[in-house]
Amino acid sequence: MAKLSNIAVLGSTGSIGRSALDVLRGLSGYQAFGLTGHQQVDLLVEQACELSPRFVVATEPEAAAEIDAAKLPANCELLSGPKAIEQLVSHEAVDTVLAAIVGRAGLESTWQAVAHGKRVALANKETLVLAGQQIMELAATAGAEILPVDSEHSAIFQCIQSGNRQEVSKLILTASGGPFLDFDTAQMNCVTVEQALAHPTWSMGKKITIDSATMMNKALEVVEARWLFDVPPEQIEVMIHPQSIIHSMVEFCDGSVVSQMGPPDMKLPIQYAMTYPDRAAGNCPRFNFAECHHLELRPPDLEQFPALRLGYEVARNGGTSGAVLNAANEAAVDAFLNHQISFCDIVVACREILDNHNFEANPNLETLLGLDIWARQEINKWTAC
Ligand code: NAD
Ligand code: MG
Repeated sequence: MAKLSNIAVLGSTGSIGRSALDVLRGLSGYQAFGLTGHQQVDLLVEQACELSPRFVVATEPEAAAEIDAAKLPANCELLSGPKAIEQLVSHEAVDTVLAAIVGRAGLESTWQAVAHGKRVALANKETLVLAGQQIMELAATAGAEILPVDSEHSAIFQCIQSGNRQEVSKLILTASGGPFLDFDTAQMNCVTVEQALAHPTWSMGKKITIDSATMMNKALEVVEARWLFDVPPEQIEVMIHPQSIIHSMVEFCDGSVVSQMGPPDMKLPIQYAMTYPDRAAGNCPRFNFAECHHLELRPPDLEQFPALRLGYEVARNGGTSGAVLNAANEAAVDAFLNHQISFCDIVVACREILDNHNFEANPNLETLLGLDIWARQEINKWTAC
């Protein structure tokens, strides 16, 4: 019998993590070797009881202390504390690490998985925005494979296989436009947390849902594409596609445009990052053209969604700018969710903090992490207003 492929699902209690476990339920040959969660420990224990992983990691110490280890299946070891994720991702039996922790909190675990030469199915785009150059260099040295889980980047990864790298002339990232696609300035100024959390096509965690509403998500994705595919920002285009069926496209030098399509569901990109270069039938939902045959594409309005400009700037400038934008945005989204700043101020604050930082073209990781802390502190000035 062929050896089972062992998957460490980092962030198994989140939206991507739960979809990943659903993928594993429908896939033979793959098993959850480790699960990690931060706060929802009841769900983490429930997942462990169903899937019997070798390790369960509870990263938040107080929440970890609530777990009754006797409730876990036999042979399932409970780990907690700062080194616990490292112990899981560096385990020699782990084949693939699904990096699905949200935000900067996912940096160290993604870094360690890459450093240990694992296949990394990368959902945590923020780590590439923060330290894209450093992570891609580390992957090359460590022999790690980074496979995209973000639906647009998975689409590009699938389309790009229609030619060779030198033949690619343009990456076209699609964006749903979020819930405020047709809002005018006055309406944008009055957006509430509840409105911003109601995404029209995708069901996701809170942080990325707000990022989709500001279009910062697409800005982060431009930077993500720049590092994943080593393509300059001039060759990355964004198109609004409200139906979220065309997940992205690649234009080749002969003018041919190849797209990848499917329902707005993360299971297929997660599964493909696990099974690549193979495809498996699995249990991902299918797209029915008879139900949705109107597919619309239009260019984004940069006045309405100024966040996109920031993404292009960061992709162009590199250096310390990604770490600053990522941290400012994370802190600003938190502040908005806590009703401390307005929706429009998220991007205004990011713009100002990016402009005010001491740019360095070739920073090391320590400098990037220092700027991450600085940018978060800068957001406090906005919440105090
Ligand atoms: P989520 O908020 O639903 O889940 C986040 C997970 O991270 C949870 O398991 C949580 O326990 C864990 N976590 C949170 N803080 C942590 C910390 N400090 N330390 C360790 N673990 C922590 O988020 P999500 O929507 O699943 O998104 C996860 C990542 O995937 C994000 O980087 C997001 O940008 C990316 N992504 C998500 C989607 C989507 O459809 N949800 C699509 C593309 C990319
Ligand atoms: Mg995406």
